[in-house]
Amino acid sequence: MELDRDPGTLWSWITGLGEIGGHGDGGVTRMAWTPELRAGNAWLRERYEELGLSVAEDAAGNLFGTWEAGEGPPVLVGSHIDTVPRGGRFDGALGVHCGLEAVRLLQQAGHAPRRPLRIVGWMDEEGARFKTPTFGSRAFAGHDLSGLSGQTDDEGVTLPEAMAGWGRDFERLPEARGVDGIGAYLELHIEQGPTLEERAIDIGVVTTIVAVLGLRVRFEGVANHAGTTPMDRRRDALVAAADGIGRLQEWIATQSYDTRLTVGIIEAEPGGFNVIPSACEFTIDARAVSETAVAAVEREVRGVLASVGEAHGTPCTVRRTHLIDAVPVDPAIADAIEAAAAADGATAVRMPSGGGHDASHVGPHVPMGMLFVPSRAGISHNPLEHTEPGQCHAGARVLARALATLTG
Ligand SMILES: [Zn+2]
Repeated sequence: MELDRDPGTLWSWITGLGEIGGHGDGGVTRMAWTPELRAGNAWLRERYEELGLSVAEDAAGNLFGTWEAGEGPPVLVGSHIDTVPRGGRFDGALGVHCGLEAVRLLQQAGHAPRRPLRIVGWMDEEGARFKTPTFGSRAFAGHDLSGLSGQTDDEGVTLPEAMAGWGRDFERLPEARGVDGIGAYLELHIEQGPTLEERAIDIGVVTTIVAVLGLRVRFEGVANHAGTTPMDRRRDALVAAADGIGRLQEWIATQSYDTRLTVGIIEAEPGGFNVIPSACEFTIDARAVSETAVAAVEREVRGVLASVGEAHGTPCTVRRTHLIDAVPVDPAIADAIEAAAAADGATAVRMPSGGGHDASHVGPHVPMGMLFVPSRAGISHNPLEHTEPGQCHAGARVLARALATLTG
């Protein structure tokens, strides 16, 4: 199949939508249930209509455009156009733009889908306003979101109030469950990491969305005077924590390149300038490609920290705060994406997704695939997010070819 290789239309969409909620420097703020996102959705609605797609918005504010063709459950493709405050033009939005461009290219090439092809712009993937990430895709997957009714933004507006401003009723969210009616889901996203750019590869074929383990660690020491307690008589909880974190960093460096461990929060008690810390708590975010791999990380963390606690005379407890299972990609879809890249002359590499996406929630229900395009310097959630027009268009063409396979 011959596909137009001119990125002009796609690039005009990227810059056009980027002006809605735009700060003039590439930065964009389009948060959930705001006038800016509403204007973004109006823009998307116009693109759907230009392509002759039928438009529908569900009870969660997800915006769909369907190429009504063939029969059977539709193939769904998309991502999100909401952003973090002062985010960029690519995280999320590029997946929607490339869905549009893929449909435009397939229509131009005379592709006749044997099943409907539907684009989606998910509501509130970032969750920046109400701390409700992947809101729309979770509603679509049938999750019970009733516990979110008390979420408020910085101005004290509740989520149900913000939804009411869009003419959406929080109580009717269960009606957004739609995952049972679709046949497959594809999402293109910027990598949000440096691998593709550094290796000069066009396409990342996602193999799995990694498992995420959350731990909270606490060392118990003894508070005492900073001046009168000799160094060898101390049971300093913060020194023990620092030692433990250092040893974990040394260990993780010996593990698979795709295993990650991050300490993001650390607190000492009582927190006095001249008091030896009596306790120190910190968090661990650990990620690995499977439940088995993440369980191995947890075992090692517990073992290392227990021995560090013993050495310092500061007993250590490790509490698990959350475990999000890995979400595997459908192997046939990964193969289809890889074949699509080869057919387009694009280079591709298989890689896990270290971040969660809307696909994390749709994937457990239907065959799911994801592809990445390069992110300049691996930067995202930042006005400096950038992917070259040619790289964006390569992603759109590969997506188009994969969609042609899935709807052919
Ligand atoms: Zn995103």
